[in-house]
Amino acid sequence: MDYNEEDPFASFEDLTNLLLKMQKKTFTISGDNNQYKPYMDPRDFNVLWRSYIYSLGQRSELLPRIQDDELDMFEKMNIGEQISKLNIFLRSEFYYCYLCGKQYASEEELYEKCPGITKADHT
Ligand SMILES: [Zn+2]
Repeated sequence: MDYNEEDPFASFEDLTNLLLKMQKKTFTISGDNNQYKPYMDPRDFNVLWRSYIYSLGQRSELLPRIQDDELDMFEKMNIGEQISKLNIFLRSEFYYCYLCGKQYASEEELYEKCPGITKADHT
């Protein structure tokens, strides 16, 4: 699945926003929001939402820029792929469908109630 192909009219800004919103959601749903402190090394957090962690650090201006090859590699993927990876992670780890805007109790419930993995499935 690729969000760019699925929605060719979505602008780059829309996708950037979508990625950021999904990263924020994952940061919360994973419990990282309770762990995170501005002095922490962002490299200790999952690369899928690490750029969001960096943005928190930049806001507090406590973090110097550091070498992060893993994040560089992740960001070399096109934004649709990054979104897709987050989408799949949320579904498999937390039974959360970003498109339903809902966290299900189990994998079974996710498969039963969520219409599918793509945006088109939800319209
Ligand atoms: Zn859904």
